[in-house]
Amino acid sequence: MEIMFLGTAAAEGWPGVFCSCDYCKKARELGGKNIRTRSSVLIEKDILVDIPPDTYMHGLRYNIDLSQIKHLFVTHSHQDHFYPQELHMRADPFAHIPEEAILNIYGNSKVTKIIDDHINIERAKIRLHTAHLFETLGEEGFTLTPLPADHAREEECFLYLINIEGKTIFYGHDSGWYPEKTWEYLSGIYINLAIFDCTFGKNDERNGHMGIPAIISAKERLEKFGSIDSNSISIATHFSHNGGLLHEELEDELSRYGFIVAYDGMVLNI
Ligand SMILES: [Zn+2]
Ligand SMILES: [Zn+2]
Ligand SMILES: [Zn+2]
Repeated sequence: MEIMFLGTAAAEGWPGVFCSCDYCKKARELGGKNIRTRSSVLIEKDILVDIPPDTYMHGLRYNIDLSQIKHLFVTHSHQDHFYPQELHMRADPFAHIPEEAILNIYGNSKVTKIIDDHINIERAKIRLHTAHLFETLGEEGFTLTPLPADHAREEECFLYLINIEGKTIFYGHDSGWYPEKTWEYLSGIYINLAIFDCTFGKNDERNGHMGIPAIISAKERLEKFGSIDSNSISIATHFSHNGGLLHEELEDELSRYGFIVAYDGMVLNI
């Protein structure tokens, strides 16, 4: 199964939309893997996780036909993960797509309500699925289980366990140190690909997001459970300029602990 990291930054992107800090200047200067757009991944050709404001650009940059996306998993309603205005553009005359080209969108009740309130879902050929914590949804070749994150107070933010073709992806952001119920659930699961929130970079903070020390501990805990082993792939992503480390510096810090540092356009096969 192919997984492409379309974007790997926190809310403001890196360089930040309006930022002129040293880390954003440096990223502009170095370019390449230091340029990060808002976080999202594409699984195979038809599953998208989150729809940030950069999705249109991701489609252009990586030559993705977004009309082929059948399933969109939304983690939470923060604007770097959820830019619902774009969904208007699936409706005629903004888009001409076959009648049967339905986009299934899965999210918490806030996400599905926002779409329902603002988008003509019939015209946009959208089917909404309100997901609930610990309740596994199964559709055409995948299962999806939302687990609680440590993130925003105003809504139930989801981490996702995604199982496709017998392989399990743990989509572990946005989140601080995972709530106990999430650890409990994960202790019974084998994970092929674990994706961690590294917003804080070198800083050891664990509320709402994590940094390097926290994701090292999180990975160790999952190893202790047997949830991940030497065959599993661990990824760090959702980076912020405030974390104070550029791509190569992140690699220096993280590769010796067995992490791959994600970058925009990175493709993995599991
Ligand atoms: Zn975020
Ligand atoms: Zn900056
Ligand atoms: Zn968030």
